[in-house]
Amino acid sequence: MGKQKDLFLKIWKTRERVCVLCGQHLGIEPRAHYFSHVLSKGAYPYYKLNPDNIVLKCIPCHTLWETGSTEKKKGHRELIKLKEKLKRKYYEDTNKLSSSKKDKLF
Ligand SMILES: [Zn+2]
Repeated sequence: MGKQKDLFLKIWKTRERVCVLCGQHLGIEPRAHYFSHVLSKGAYPYYKLNPDNIVLKCIPCHTLWETGSTEKKKGHRELIKLKEKLKRKYYEDTNKLSSSKKDKLF
């Protein structure tokens, strides 16, 4: 948990503190809900601590992203594009990972 918190703080310090979806300013206090994994931690565990996979969102946008219908997510197009890009990269990276493991075994 500590590593993730460190990463969140680093992102908070280096990025513009606005919601990636609606542009709202997020204030001065970093809150866990502002940090959103583009590829979910559960399904894509290797990107849990990848800063490219974390975007800042205001709480209403974060909730909409997690639970809203596709219809409501029309404004999320850019983020959906980013998600597809990261997904491709994820598979490339994890393929590399498993082939380097094979190299060690044989
Ligand atoms: Zn927002």
